Amino acid sequence: MEFSYYNPTRLIFGEGTFSQLGELTAPLGRHAMLVTGRYAMERSGYLQKAQDLLEQAGMQVTVFNKIPPNPTLDVIVEGGRTAKEAGCDVLVGLGGGSAMDSAKNIAVAATHGSMLEFLLPNQAGKKRPPTEATLPIVAVTSTAGTSSELTPFAVVTVPDSREKTSLTGDTLYARVAIDDPELTYSMPPEVTAGTGVDVICHAVEGYISRVGNPITDQWALRAIELVAAHLPGAVADGSNQQARRGMMLANVFAGYVLSQTGTNIMHGVGHPISGRCPEVPHGAALATVLVAWAEMIWERAPEQFATIARIFGVDESDDKVAASQTAAALKAFLNRVNMDVTLRDLGVPEDMLDVIADDGQRYMHHAIAKTPGEVTREHLMQLLQASY
Ligand code: NDP
Ligand code: MN
Repeated sequence: MEFSYYNPTRLIFGEGTFSQLGELTAPLGRHAMLVTGRYAMERSGYLQKAQDLLEQAGMQVTVFNKIPPNPTLDVIVEGGRTAKEAGCDVLVGLGGGSAMDSAKNIAVAATHGSMLEFLLPNQAGKKRPPTEATLPIVAVTSTAGTSSELTPFAVVTVPDSREKTSLTGDTLYARVAIDDPELTYSMPPEVTAGTGVDVICHAVEGYISRVGNPITDQWALRAIELVAAHLPGAVADGSNQQARRGMMLANVFAGYVLSQTGTNIMHGVGHPISGRCPEVPHGAALATVLVAWAEMIWERAPEQFATIARIFGVDESDDKVAASQTAAALKAFLNRVNMDVTLRDLGVPEDMLDVIADDGQRYMHHAIAKTPGEVTREHLMQLLQASY
């Protein structure tokens, strides 16, 4: 057996750790660009607090609060230009995955020419990683979902081709990640649930992945256990501190999986779903395919699926029998958190399924190839049709 493990991000975890933002960022630069979404962080007061903490640490601050969910490249290019003109030398991403990913993308856009050479594969089918000129990144998450603060990925949609792709490379790891559960208290139930489903998908995809290893396997199981134990409580009562902490820890464990294994078939169609229909949140896109995914794949990894099924309450000693009940157990769990949704419910047009399958094959094939067993276009269509 041989495997490697690399994750250079300094993680600061815990209630109240947000207050360390200034002292953790100041050693990395003099002028921070604070990148966030349009509403949530301003409403919860954390945008103002972040600005104050950075200024108290002696830094100049430029606020860029223009990031929509499922951001497109044009806002990144604008952010890169603004950062360059203002002389920003460190990026602080504050918010959900959309804001943190955008901070990472802007850290590249501010110091590199065209982003497309890093986002789209070259003729050899490879994407170039951004260079060491990438500005340093601090990531503060306000959702317990994407783990972007702990991964080398930065997702963005290319508007012309509607490809929801990502930058990937070691320079995209944040220097510092702050995972303070208090920031997640203001998440409404549907955002809590959707981002929680993202954690499940990172963990289960990593757990059955062809490229997993003993470390990621352990952490994937821990993440799944924590979601099973805490997501319903966090959805039912957003101020439940124990549930919020449990979900933030799940997000950390899943991030330590995702950063090593990447994703596979669920994200392989999940990205094209939101790429074509940007109003569909990432977690909701994944929720539509989770049950059909388990139904389609369980026989390819019965031992792992048996373990997953038991975490979600299946009481069967025979592995094959337990594994065969994973889909039903996941459906019941999604019901508990109001995420048992279909692509039809989310307004995805039925004639879009072919386009989504084509997109998956065109630009998510590296992720899809990590699924155990063969995945053809027919498999992708089967998964999408069963999720409609
Ligand atoms: P978003 O960042 O898109 O946020 C979703 C919504 O929730 C937004 O409207 C946002 O408001 C709001 N919101 C965020 N935090 C809070 C809060 N604490 N209280 C109230 N409202 C809040 O969602 P996700 O975190 O799920 O990020 C999804 C993105 O991350 C996708 O693009 C996905 O592909 C990507 N991703 C990246 C990964 C990586 O490794 N880099 C891994 C997995 C997913 P507002 O708009 O005002 O900010
Ligand atoms: Mn995801």
